[in-house]
Amino acid sequence: TAALELRSVDAWYGPVRALEGVGFTVEEGRIAALLGPNGAGKSTTIKAITSAVRSAGSVTFRGAEIGGLPTHRVARLGIATVSSDRGTIPGLTVEDNLRVGAVAGRGRRVADQRERVLGLFPDLRGMLRRPAHLLSGGQQQMLAIGRALMSRPHLLILDEPSQGLAPVIVRSIFATLKDLTAAGEITVLIAEQNAVASLAIADTAVVLSGGTVRARGPAAEIRAST
Ligand code: ADP
Ligand code: ADP
Repeated sequence: TAALELRSVDAWYGPVRALEGVGFTVEEGRIAALLGPNGAGKSTTIKAITSAVRSAGSVTFRGAEIGGLPTHRVARLGIATVSSDRGTIPGLTVEDNLRVGAVAGRGRRVADQRERVLGLFPDLRGMLRRPAHLLSGGQQQMLAIGRALMSRPHLLILDEPSQGLAPVIVRSIFATLKDLTAAGEITVLIAEQNAVASLAIADTAVVLSGGTVRARGPAAEIRAST
């Protein structure tokens, strides 16, 4: 079944149309890559899902229409987003960043969910008391993803997670995302200019350019055609 489905989504910044007729589905428990060059409309597509841009068309999440729902209500449905600036809180320690991430969350004790997150990103375990801004870029990305996972989302959306990171770090973080979906309980949408890294873990891919879908299908097919 589809976790996320976009149908004929248009989006505007003032009078300027940034998306036109965007449509794709992401199956439950799968990883989808949202690809395309700078300015293609990847971030705007994410904003259309979270109601952070003026848009039209249909966005359904686990069968329910969420297009136009206020952003805070979208988060409460179990959609967590990691923005391209990562959005960890610099003055707070790793531990407190994780705790803040749990605030929007559903059930389960914070300590239990923190253990699961630290299991995914063991590097963070030794630096729980460290302020987030003293972490390396890769560690900050791990913290940003970990923080998003603290809310136990059904759908995790990442905007350019590889940005500014060494290829070896990107592979490690992406491998962790793959592990996370292996149990089939979380769905991941990754917006990336880095098609090679994201297609290596994605099940399906959507290629945007100029605000429209240029190609979509199984990741292996998109990989072969790019
Ligand atoms: P991507 O994430 O693929 O780099 P974006 O979704 O950020 O692309 O941008 C899609 C188009 O929308 C681009 O032409 C960009 O210039 C425009 N755009 C993005 N953000 C804004 C904004 N806040 N105001 C006006 N235009 C914007
Ligand atoms: P439930 O019993 O509510 O279905 P699950 O234990 O199946 O709870 O997992 C629910 C949520 O926990 C997932 O949607 C996901 O957000 C998060 N999650 C799943 N696996 C992990 C993991 N290994 N580490 C951190 N969070 C996870």
